[in-house]
Amino acid sequence: MAVRALVYYPDDRLRKVGRKVQRVDDEVRRLLSDMAETMYAFRGIGLAAPQVGVNRRVIVVHAVQDEERGSSSLIGMVNPEIIEKSPEQEMAEEGCMSIPGVHADVLRSQRVVVEGLDADGNRVRIETDGLEARVFLHEIDHLNGVLFIDYLDSLTRDVLLKKYLEDTSRQVESKAPDQEA
Ligand SMILES: [Zn+2]
Repeated sequence: MAVRALVYYPDDRLRKVGRKVQRVDDEVRRLLSDMAETMYAFRGIGLAAPQVGVNRRVIVVHAVQDEERGSSSLIGMVNPEIIEKSPEQEMAEEGCMSIPGVHADVLRSQRVVVEGLDADGNRVRIETDGLEARVFLHEIDHLNGVLFIDYLDSLTRDVLLKKYLEDTSRQVESKAPDQEA
């Protein structure tokens, strides 16, 4: 396994639609394990392949990594698709490992059903809610070139991004992103 380099906003690779994986082979399994290691190294709670510069439909999610809050499990998924989204929505603060230091409230469905392939190529279906549902929605957006900042009103987005782009001292090491995806 290896920690891969992250791709940061405004890199064009974050705006591409990811290619579907044809076969879950060793290369895809290596990508999944590298992505998990990268997510943990940057203290993220989810990561999509475009964030490590790979234009494929692959995500990893580990929404709750705190034993006291009831840790969730690590989930790797290939070609994930949202099958159902609850009409009930919930507002919560989000961040992104590719836009470190920027956080804002985003309205998302409270529950989702997601289907895709696991690391062995088996079809899996996951029903989840709360933070884990939010992370799935955030990561699957990445596969379609969509970023959480796209949901903000233009004034909020402009102010946050202006600050982000001006912050030349912005280094991943100096500000360990937490709870970012
Ligand atoms: Zn993200």
